Amino acid sequence: MTAWDVCVLGGGPAGSVCALRLARLGHRVVLVERRPFPRPHVGEALSPGVPALLDVLGLRHALDGSVPSGGALVRWEDDTTRQVEPDPRAVTVDRGRFDHVLLAAARAEGVAVRQPARAGRPRRGPDGWEVPLRHDVLRARFLVDASGRHRATGGTTTATGARTLALHAVWPGTGPTRIGAGPRTWCWGAPLPDGAFRAMAFVDPDLLRHYAYDVRRLYHHLLDTTGLFADRPASLDVAVCDATSYRDDDPVTEDRVKVGEAAYTLDPLTSSGVDSAVQSAMAAAVTANTVLSGGDRAAALAFYRDRRDRAAARHAAWTAAHYHRHETHRDQPFWRRRAVPPPARARPAPTPLTPDCLHRPVRLVADAAVVPTPCPVGDVVTLRRALTHPALPGPVAHVGDTELAPLLDCLAHAPSLADLLRTWSARLPAGQAEATAKWLFGAGLLVVGG
Ligand SMILES: Cc1cc2nc3c(=O)[nH]c(=O)nc-3n(C[C@H](O)[C@H](O)[C@H](O)COP(=O)(O)OP(=O)(O)OC[C@H]3O[C@@H](n4cnc5c(N)ncnc54)[C@H](O)[C@@H]3O)c2cc1C
Repeated sequence: MTAWDVCVLGGGPAGSVCALRLARLGHRVVLVERRPFPRPHVGEALSPGVPALLDVLGLRHALDGSVPSGGALVRWEDDTTRQVEPDPRAVTVDRGRFDHVLLAAARAEGVAVRQPARAGRPRRGPDGWEVPLRHDVLRARFLVDASGRHRATGGTTTATGARTLALHAVWPGTGPTRIGAGPRTWCWGAPLPDGAFRAMAFVDPDLLRHYAYDVRRLYHHLLDTTGLFADRPASLDVAVCDATSYRDDDPVTEDRVKVGEAAYTLDPLTSSGVDSAVQSAMAAAVTANTVLSGGDRAAALAFYRDRRDRAAARHAAWTAAHYHRHETHRDQPFWRRRAVPPPARARPAPTPLTPDCLHRPVRLVADAAVVPTPCPVGDVVTLRRALTHPALPGPVAHVGDTELAPLLDCLAHAPSLADLLRTWSARLPAGQAEATAKWLFGAGLLVVGG
């Protein structure tokens, strides 16, 4: 029986991208997807970062047939409806087609695909993982759980937002993208590439009980409260799914990693689920590659966990602050459960760079530090000294292609900013010494003073 290097459970964006990256790195990869493709999936609005990620992976063709997201009618803070200009990079896709193309790209890179095949609960055997299929058992050294909210490997989760249900329906028709708030909901609707329109309403689960589980009646009521969806038909098939955000309590071990929605989910308010699924898949591939190639396991695991924790916390804070901007119904339980004011900015004040600074000594701001940090370097995770500060979104090890820590070491020997720039200029390409200093001053990380 073939023993694979890696078995990936699930062929959504996270599973396909992780499998493809690992196959390109030379690993023998098998992917198991329980449904035949193309299959329908919610999550059609792709945030502006997705095209750039696909470019890096050489997968831009997955966006063929997408439509630009277009401007949106937004009624959020109060009862005023604003026209919001679109970000030209944001697109809406047919997720059935999008996911199908990504899986085909993984297959073209040599990934063996078992589909349709449902993976049973994997177990650890004497030589690694055993993944039961209906008539077969797959064996692999490393497991990637990319099974989305089904979380095929199980384990516990911690909620990162209020429990939420999404009620959604599709109807023939078009119209602008709309985002609106009601006393017990917020709703989103957008035209899809195939000429249909999808609208979703997000609610607390107990509201469905109050409506005796009559999802259709509740859905119509919720859309009505936003005042933005009067053009919908009366008769609709309404589906319900869970949309609670959580993070898995154990996203990575020495022989298993969870990616995409198996690792953490975002509030759909961010429209960034696919973006974060692809990013986590890329980080997981580097993590698995480090472990499989005998690299620094501890660094690899710490890198993946830290990256996931930071991403989940950043999104949760952004989402809560966005709910907090809503005013009309802010006393209603739906809004009270979700809204949190944005945290006070920990960012230090930037120092104005004047010619006078050139002749004065410079130093790092008090709570900045340079510490050993797990970083992806090429295709493996390794320890690098990186700059940390509470205001930075994460540790910074490189500026462009240059390592930052050796540059910061020069601070100890440079009597003035002019001396520092001279030392850096001897090591860096033209203009980069000044650009690095400007960035550090602008972020308030470098300050004048002995
Ligand atoms: C209501 C709602 C609205 C959303 N809207 C947006 C949006 O507008 N934009 C956005 O970017 N994101 C959105 N998202 C999130 C987005 O859909 C997900 O983040 C994204 O699909 C995650 O990708 P994934 O690969 O992790 O999981 P999935 O895409 O769910 O893929 C998991 C795959 O695993 C397969 N699978 C499951 N169990 C097994 C098993 N045992 N064996 C084999 N295969 C299995 C499934 O069939 C599936 O194909 C939304 C989510 C919700 C709930």
